[in-house]
Amino acid sequence: MAQVIDGKALAASVDEHTAAEVAALVAGGGPRPGLAVVLVGEDPASQVYVRRKIAGCRKVGIASFERLLPADTTQDDLLAVIEELNADPAVHGILCQVPLPPHIDQGLVLDAIHPDKDVDGFHPVNVGRLSTGTGGIVPCTPLGVMMLLDSVLPDLMGLDVVVIGKSNIVGKPIAMLLLEREATVTVTHIHTKGLPAIARKADVIVAAAGAPELVRGDWVKPGAVVIDVGITRVPGANGKDRLVGDVAFAELDHARAVTPVPGGVGPMTIACLLSNTVKAARAAAGERVMEAAEL
Ligand code: NAD
Repeated sequence: MAQVIDGKALAASVDEHTAAEVAALVAGGGPRPGLAVVLVGEDPASQVYVRRKIAGCRKVGIASFERLLPADTTQDDLLAVIEELNADPAVHGILCQVPLPPHIDQGLVLDAIHPDKDVDGFHPVNVGRLSTGTGGIVPCTPLGVMMLLDSVLPDLMGLDVVVIGKSNIVGKPIAMLLLEREATVTVTHIHTKGLPAIARKADVIVAAAGAPELVRGDWVKPGAVVIDVGITRVPGANGKDRLVGDVAFAELDHARAVTPVPGGVGPMTIACLLSNTVKAARAAAGERVMEAAEL
């Protein structure tokens, strides 16, 4: 039987650590970390994500600032909100929930978030820092994937890892983090030829394609570790939607360890967002201390 990696339990322990960090920061005279969440429009899935993020903040003692804007908000008005949050010293992290309505240039808005407050890690400055291994804020889902991997396989040096999916927010940053850990990384995508044979050679598979149960049992070599990032909503038997991952979980008995969907990568994403917000607050506090020392 493969070990089922419990993302909920790991996320709870990350949250515990984050809450302790917040308490220590505040007790030491530092700022209370603050996260601003910007939502444009009323997309029901986005509303759920935003509510979860706000609830997460409450749980660990992070102050949250909600900016719920109507769907017809202009790009300029949204950019003005971002500028205001960039300048607000109580806000250490800014998250703009995507997708944005089609009349808004998403890239332009995400690039307007100050890199030091970009707790999603999507800003080109943070992407550059990640790809050069020079710090910066690491995107939440990839960071969560690395923590899940660490919980079963702390030494990745020299291992063959296949990443399925090459998106800017999941596949590519995961590949960069794995390279930093000296793994041998193969990044694959929809046009990759012979994917099952490539996957079969891997010590670790990270599936982030958004293709339900793409990775079958015979794609996975015995003893491999499989991290399933994919989440697709499909109609269930009882008329209610159910969430399906990119991996045929029931066929993976011969794997060493595998993450479930739900309950694997998903819970780690918010935990990492909260942890990134505290890191940003600490960096801001540190910078102020340095600035004061220089005067
Ligand atoms: P995306 O659509 O931007 O990218 C998907 C990538 O997978 C592309 O590079 C594409 O070429 C590749 N791909 C698609 N079908 C494939 C196939 N059949 N074979 C090989 N490669 C294939 O998606 P994304 O934003 O990177 O998200 C990927 C999945 O991860 C989605 O299911 C998404 O819901 C999920 N996700 C989960 C979390 C989380 O918190 N758990 C966070 C972000 C994304």
